[in-house]
Amino acid sequence: MPTKTSTPQTDALVIGAGPVGLFQAFQLGLLGLKVEVIDVLPQAGGQCMALYPDKPIYDVPGVPRCTGRELTSLLLEQASPFLPLDQATGQRPNLHLGQQVDSLTQFDGGWQVGTSTGWTCQARAVVIAAGAGAFVPRGLGLAELDGARNLSHRLPGEFDEAAAAGAEAPAWAGQHLVIAGGGDEALAAVLHAAQAEPAHRPARLTLLHRRDAFQAEPETEAAVRALIGAGAVQLVLGVPQGVHLEGDRIEALQLLGADGLAFDLPLDHLLVRLGLSPKLGPLTQWGLALERKQVRVDTATFASSQPGVHAVGDINTYPGKKRLLLCGFHEATLAAHAIATALNPDAPPHLLYTTTSPVLHQRLGVQG
Ligand SMILES: Cc1cc2nc3c(=O)[nH]c(=O)nc-3n(C[C@H](O)[C@H](O)[C@H](O)COP(=O)(O)OP(=O)(O)OC[C@H]3O[C@@H](n4cnc5c(N)ncnc54)[C@H](O)[C@@H]3O)c2cc1C
Repeated sequence: MPTKTSTPQTDALVIGAGPVGLFQAFQLGLLGLKVEVIDVLPQAGGQCMALYPDKPIYDVPGVPRCTGRELTSLLLEQASPFLPLDQATGQRPNLHLGQQVDSLTQFDGGWQVGTSTGWTCQARAVVIAAGAGAFVPRGLGLAELDGARNLSHRLPGEFDEAAAAGAEAPAWAGQHLVIAGGGDEALAAVLHAAQAEPAHRPARLTLLHRRDAFQAEPETEAAVRALIGAGAVQLVLGVPQGVHLEGDRIEALQLLGADGLAFDLPLDHLLVRLGLSPKLGPLTQWGLALERKQVRVDTATFASSQPGVHAVGDINTYPGKKRLLLCGFHEATLAAHAIATALNPDAPPHLLYTTTSPVLHQRLGVQG
């Protein structure tokens, strides 16, 4: 283990806090290893939270039915002994959210990880649980919007109920807010903005979509249609073609209407709500053997082609691979055992049961 540096150090670092990454943290902790987990999203849960939080899952063993959100909450609770919740801050200090792992570099004794926020950590082993890649908000496809000061993708305090409760007025309070999108995320944002307390509401609210048809839950659509009918929300139909900028501020979007005519939509703040899409991004630069953008692994240890780097869940590939939660949980278990054996070669190799082992009870903080 390296010591001549102030960079934080850990036994194992997990890239991705999706369902498999969370279970990986649990399995590593159970085997007595110190673990850190990183995810680019502001909340844990990966696809379960980003793509289907309220849809039911029926094939998790022993759980006849649970939603993506419920499964995430159960996995976090299960991993809590090793990703403990600080009651004072409401955060889990070794679960690092809202930062993308950009670099993975080898040194004598392990791997150094660097993130988009400048955080670095050294680990003796790394587990990539990156699913289909880092989830990033979909944009309007206009490069000129990059870095604009009055562009957002998230609502204040989104994914963080504690922060939402004490949230300050959003950047668009008292301004003309344009929300782009036609799905649940966009329509929910319209309701959020329109129904906020008066000091947090925009002075004018516009919903921009390419056509007069939405893909949202019927109740959400009905509520938004009622606001449009009452004149509280203006519906503008058009396809963004360009931007008028004043320095780093968007002054207006240039749109093409269904009649083929171009027009400008002036705005004070643009909230783009087109969902999330996964980007493999930096992972392709880490020198791993890939096959169709997935990490090739050995199915006994889930080791990649790089020593000390494992890959579990949707990101890996091997003969017979199935992208299912159950398979990811199995992979995480075998990866944890392989890592524990590699890091502690003198430890007794026998298997301990959570039902009967006092050692595991102590790690879990439970009475036998
Ligand atoms: C609509 C839908 C329904 C599904 N239903 C079922 C079902 O019923 N049963 C079932 O078994 N499976 C189901 N699945 C599949 C299941 O959701 C996936 O198998 C599972 O989410 C994979 O988990 P994971 O942790 O490997 O990856 P993910 O859930 O994709 O999580 C990966 C995480 O890694 C993060 N990440 C990636 N790269 C980086 C980086 N460089 N830095 C920081 N963070 C990074 C991502 O942001 C993400 O949060 C469903 C999938 C979908 C889309």
